[in-house]
Amino acid sequence: ARPQGDLCNNADVTHLTELAQKVLDQLACPYALGDEQVYSTASLGISIYPDDAGDAIEMLRHSDQAMYAAKNEGRHCFRFFTASMQESALQRMQLVRDLRQAMALNQFKDYYQPIVELATGRIHKAEALLRWRHPTRGFISPAVFIPIAEDIGAIVEIGGWIFLRAAQNAKKWLSIVGDDLAISINKSPVQFRDRSPEHLDWVRLLETLELPGKHIVAEITEGLLLRQEPFIEEKLLAFRDAGIQVAIDDFGTGYSSLSYLTKFDIDYLKIDKSFTSNLAPGNETQALCEAIIMMAHKVGLKVIAEGVETEQQRDLLKEMGCDYAQGYLYSRPIPAHEFQAMLEAHYRSLNSAVQE
Ligand code: C2E
Ligand code: CA
Ligand code: CA
Repeated sequence: ARPQGDLCNNADVTHLTELAQKVLDQLACPYALGDEQVYSTASLGISIYPDDAGDAIEMLRHSDQAMYAAKNEGRHCFRFFTASMQESALQRMQLVRDLRQAMALNQFKDYYQPIVELATGRIHKAEALLRWRHPTRGFISPAVFIPIAEDIGAIVEIGGWIFLRAAQNAKKWLSIVGDDLAISINKSPVQFRDRSPEHLDWVRLLETLELPGKHIVAEITEGLLLRQEPFIEEKLLAFRDAGIQVAIDDFGTGYSSLSYLTKFDIDYLKIDKSFTSNLAPGNETQALCEAIIMMAHKVGLKVIAEGVETEQQRDLLKEMGCDYAQGYLYSRPIPAHEFQAMLEAHYRSLNSAVQE
């Protein structure tokens, strides 16, 4: 409910609340479109004159902000405009402005987090993760800026940049690790659906770099595969032809529909860190993880557990036959040169162990 303003009294708010609910209910009624029965819902934003705004344009802007708040809170509901919405809208606008310049100002960094093979303890995989060092606000989490970059389309350029960095590094690190090296890169659905001609595709970039596709893993989310989109399927096929591997990220948090796992050529499932962090001997999460691992192995996929922070989690995952683990237990994401030093030390100690 709306904190009561000076001018707008309780009766008005009650009346508006009832009205908004009526509108939502009415809009939610199914209707016929040709032969189809169509269901739709609405998200409603409300601002009040003159409490919230002084003119029509401001009224519309604030209602719009309230509508986005309603969408964010699960849709099919209504929200009154509040001052904090205005505050977060302003912050977002500022971030959008800074984000547009960040690329030109070299504010992005590529970090790497090792992915450890549980059976051997060896590192021959890593995930590339973006970092944005904002000139005044310091590091801003990708969880905050990636969705904005997706909204404004900047993800295509930024994603292309980190791909290039990761692929160049992969090529360099082959001399340390040998042929069995793969670097994972997150690819957002917006990048997948992008058709802009100036955007070089991953397959063509790898050709230019003369790096075989098998050294790259594309991390995608389940959502990308749910709707049958021929363009996406074509791209995935092109990946397969180029040898690029595919991992399903955050597995278990979305629809977790199993049918697409065999329909598309998927190589890895990444168990989401929310599962890993809840793992305890004999609990339900363990049963779930065990089921995911068994099912994945049955259809020929390898499993990577994200967010492994404790030895107990690692041991449980290893017992259940999970193939790989990634998390703070081994290392936080680190800059490329640090990751390279880590790889060098790791392989030096492996080689000397072999010689002894
Ligand atoms: P993600 O792909 O699920 O990446 C894993 C996240 O878990 C990373 O967060 C990583 O730092 C964090 N993490 C790793 N180990 C642990 C652990 O043991 N405990 C906990 N609590 N967290 C751990 P980060 O780097 O903040 O990235 C957040 C998300 O932003 C990523 O989630 C991914 O969806 C997105 N992202 C990051 N880099 C890129 C990129 O280059 N392109 C795209 N499209 N998305 C990216
Ligand atoms: Ca990922
Ligand atoms: Ca994840």
